[in-house]
Amino acid sequence: SNTTLNSDEDNINVVIRIRPMNDKEKSCGEKQILEFPGKGQVICHTDAPGQKSKVFSYNVVFEPAATQEDVLEYCGIKRLLEMAVEGFSCTAFCYGQTGSGKTHTLTGPPGLVESGASPYSPEHGLVVRSFVYLFRLIQERPESHFILKASFLEIYNEKVIDLLNPGTARKPLQVRWSKDSRSFYVENLFTVDCEELDDLFAVLEEGMRNRSVGSHAMNAHSSRSHTVLSVRVRRELRADASVTCATHGKINFVDLAGSEMTKRTQSTGKTLEEANNINRSLMVLGYCIAQLSDGKKRGHIPYRDSKLTKLLADSLAGNGVTLMIACIAPTKSNISETINTLRYAARAKKI
Ligand code: ADP
Ligand code: MG
Repeated sequence: SNTTLNSDEDNINVVIRIRPMNDKEKSCGEKQILEFPGKGQVICHTDAPGQKSKVFSYNVVFEPAATQEDVLEYCGIKRLLEMAVEGFSCTAFCYGQTGSGKTHTLTGPPGLVESGASPYSPEHGLVVRSFVYLFRLIQERPESHFILKASFLEIYNEKVIDLLNPGTARKPLQVRWSKDSRSFYVENLFTVDCEELDDLFAVLEEGMRNRSVGSHAMNAHSSRSHTVLSVRVRRELRADASVTCATHGKINFVDLAGSEMTKRTQSTGKTLEEANNINRSLMVLGYCIAQLSDGKKRGHIPYRDSKLTKLLADSLAGNGVTLMIACIAPTKSNISETINTLRYAARAKKI
């Protein structure tokens, strides 16, 4: 946890978070194969004969000792939240193999949110911390009136399921195009008006409870699905008690399916279909982001190729800022997935 973002003008920021070794890895005497020389660099020591160590560069690298508070302060999320308040659509997502710390980074250790811990618990991840910061931003703007609406959904096998109304698992929701707002939306998605921090927190808690209830094997399920928690921010500027103008911003928090699911081999039947769907959405997402960071003309970005990118299209299209948090494990036994993640993240951002 060292540097700040390179440039205030970037519309995509890519940071890396390395989780600490867990007890099992320590007791097996696993070796740490990553080095962090600072300046946003990660060096990966392959120690395969004849292979050089690989060096990758990003905006920021969070070492295993980094705290949840460090991530809030230095990953760039505060700028996304400020932009959402100003009327832009922004997305923060976590990418990485299962067990690399995506959910930990977004919502803290397993069960914390579901247990109803205070929103000020030091263990909370980026989502709850962002809620707290969002309300601070609102309080600093007493001249404006804010209306917040939150929703929480899951994309499983290209089906959209409402985590605030889990009955839709039997009849998934449709993603449609709105001519008026020129964006995709989910038909009949439950949205909750949030006047206070506790309301946002309750949305998160409810959705996370429903997510784990709906699946018998929590880990297997969460490694195959994406979740999207969205907070829409309507800001009304008032003069003489009448609304003079309004802006509509948005922040999405996305916990992606495990990137190891992109391996097609070894999968059969239903798993193959799932893997192909995950593969496609992560590939399309990576492709959209790479196009964005290239600053090329934006006509050919294939948002329509997956549900996930349809729903994130307005923020990926350049009307906002995207933050990628790529999560990796520190150990040698994970090296091939780690290199895949480091490459995916590096492609998104050519620094
Ligand atoms: P993922 O969502 O990518 O599958 P998790 O977030 O569930 O991975 O992390 C796997 C385990 O490692 C969890 O028990 C989690 O609490 C722990 N963990 C992950 N990142 C950290 C971290 N930075 N500090 C402490 N524990 C972590
Ligand atoms: Mg997870």
